[in-house]
Amino acid sequence: MNNEYLLKHLRNVPNFPIPGIQFKDVSTLYKHPKCLRIMVNELYDLYKDKGITKVVGIESRGFVVGAALAYKLGAGFVMARKPGKLPAETRKESYMKEYGKDTIEIHTDAITDKDIVLIHDDLLATGGSMLAAYNLVQQFNPKQTYINFIIELTIEGLHGRAVFPENVDITTLIKI
Ligand code: AMP
Repeated sequence: MNNEYLLKHLRNVPNFPIPGIQFKDVSTLYKHPKCLRIMVNELYDLYKDKGITKVVGIESRGFVVGAALAYKLGAGFVMARKPGKLPAETRKESYMKEYGKDTIEIHTDAITDKDIVLIHDDLLATGGSMLAAYNLVQQFNPKQTYINFIIELTIEGLHGRAVFPENVDITTLIKI
């Protein structure tokens, strides 16, 4: 089973970046040729018939598979970045994190109302950062928005899916 194969190759780093966090280190999946191929191919199968025109990757772990998938889908790739990183005019969305506020940005000309968008990130925990990305993408009024993560954390009472509107299509490859 492919997803068991991915799970077997995912590194868990205890107490990173702070004590108590079990950090799921996807770099071990990105560096592994077969894991990388499995992830991109599985996502391609999930989205190949959806008419996706733009894949939005969230900085920075969402860039790796997001860009490979965009290439395979024949879609464009858009970076959702931390504040001040994108050089041209941007739209922004701010959100609350555990400690203080954060913001993400997308170039104003990166998405249009004719696009069908897939937003991709490596991991769903509380859902806060993806919800901000989702709300940011809605500012562009695309035809449709899909959401994907490689990993969905449901341990320790996490239920990140619950923060999204019920009609949003969310897929994940590995549930932990
Ligand atoms: P959240 O906004 O709480 O859903 O957090 C998701 C973002 O934080 C993703 O970009 C992840 O890369 C990162 N993240 C949060 N918790 C973890 C974790 N336990 N292991 C690895 N990455 C995490």
